[in-house]
Amino acid sequence: MSTIAIVGGGITGLAAAWHLATRHPGHEVVLLESTSRLGGKLDSIRVAGHVVDGGAESVLARRPEALELLSEIDAPLVHPERFPASLWSRGQLTPMPAGTLMGVPSDPSSLHGLLTEDEIERVREERAVDLHGTDIGIGDLVERACGSAVVDRLVEPLLGGVYAGHARALSARACMPALWEAAVDGRSLLQTAARAAEAGSARRDEPVFAAIAGGLGTLPARLADAARGAGVTIRTGAVVSELTAEGTGWRLRLTGPGSGAGTGEPMPASTLHADAVLLATPAAPTARLLSSAAPDAAVGLRTIEYASMALVTFAFRASDSAPFEGTTGFLVPPVDGAQIKASTFSSSKWPWLTQAVPDLRFVRVSLGRHGEERVLHHDDAELTRIGLTDLRRVVGPVLEPVDAQVRRWGGGLPQYAVGHVDTVASIRAATAAHPTLALAGAAYDGVGIPACIASARRAAEELVTRL
Ligand SMILES: Cc1cc2nc3c(=O)[nH]c(=O)nc-3n(C[C@H](O)[C@H](O)[C@H](O)COP(=O)(O)OP(=O)(O)OC[C@H]3O[C@@H](n4cnc5c(N)ncnc54)[C@H](O)[C@@H]3O)c2cc1C
Repeated sequence: MSTIAIVGGGITGLAAAWHLATRHPGHEVVLLESTSRLGGKLDSIRVAGHVVDGGAESVLARRPEALELLSEIDAPLVHPERFPASLWSRGQLTPMPAGTLMGVPSDPSSLHGLLTEDEIERVREERAVDLHGTDIGIGDLVERACGSAVVDRLVEPLLGGVYAGHARALSARACMPALWEAAVDGRSLLQTAARAAEAGSARRDEPVFAAIAGGLGTLPARLADAARGAGVTIRTGAVVSELTAEGTGWRLRLTGPGSGAGTGEPMPASTLHADAVLLATPAAPTARLLSSAAPDAAVGLRTIEYASMALVTFAFRASDSAPFEGTTGFLVPPVDGAQIKASTFSSSKWPWLTQAVPDLRFVRVSLGRHGEERVLHHDDAELTRIGLTDLRRVVGPVLEPVDAQVRRWGGGLPQYAVGHVDTVASIRAATAAHPTLALAGAAYDGVGIPACIASARRAAEELVTRL
């Protein structure tokens, strides 16, 4: 029986452990998580005494991976209300135009109310962008094709929501491959968006997003229980501090309170031998672990930067809920100078939450974009004040919250900079000499949870095939 060590107990590591234990039960699977908590960017917090999501809160339901996983562990699947999200632009709330592909409209007339007539005209006059096969910032691509307004008021806030990054710095090839490929082939971006909208409307009866009752923050514990039940050994408080190639396998140096070999005894350091290793850690710790076994991969990994952010979750009395009804929240174009970048009206969005806590309405705002971490230097009280002030500017004078909690995410989201696809290819090439090593997680082929699960499965399959 060979031992496969998985480093990192976020959704990627947990999904890989579950996949290996259920699809390839002949292996011993050991998952090592450095902190005392499983889940990484999935976490729950308590606000006004109730458990709500403190990190990721929904999965894309148009991809199969997350839904398959939730179904396999019998998690109680829920879907959000189908209220439209809004944009807070030029001092007013406007419903998100329908049929855009990450902000690129399929029909420029859908932008009335959001862009001026001149700006809409510029979108209509779409220009071809000759890329000669090279990567480009998604914002630069759309700006050259359709003008800057659609970037500033649509693409930027949408990308800000997903990556906490800047449209002009994020790779078109990695973040919006459909638009990049269209430009490379000399096809229209607007028509590409129209085709995507058509495909979407053929599936309009299917929900776009999903989560689980109790919040996505409760998924890691469920998944860990299921994985343990399937034979996985999970050790928290186990920091993998060194990885050394040893014949065809690996030696892992463990520190931290969970380093004792399952005895429960805190030990200063210990060693684990594994036949294969799956690194499901963010880019920086992965780079540290590979610094001697695959130094060129470490160099590539160090170039992947991360955005930090904070979420402030408010609980308001249900009697003050009117401003939050009929929409799931709003995104904020940074060009207008607001400090918050988005708000989710969690109780309006998730019926299970209103049923569970009928007398309160939970609303969260997010702050912080890549390279703009200054706002995060404020203490929690000031972040709460800033969040509430911006929220009031949007929805009007809401009354005092009953409670507010700040959850900070240092190094929350990897930035897929221009050239990211080549960077990842070079990292993978630099680990090719080690067939019993695999990399997975948000740093590589997609930051969303379904993409992380897909990368976990792919990495697990690679290892099993090579063992
Ligand atoms: C605030 C926020 C909201 C988000 N919302 C959504 C959303 O609604 N929907 C969506 O699809 N995506 C969302 N995302 C993105 C998504 O949640 C993440 O990309 C994804 O969860 C990353 O999972 P991961 O397992 O790859 O990495 P992580 O969650 O970062 O997990 C990595 C784990 O490795 C551990 N680790 C690190 N170093 C070591 C070491 N040396 N030894 C052992 N363990 C180590 C860490 O402690 C951590 O637990 C959000 C992200 C953030 C930050």
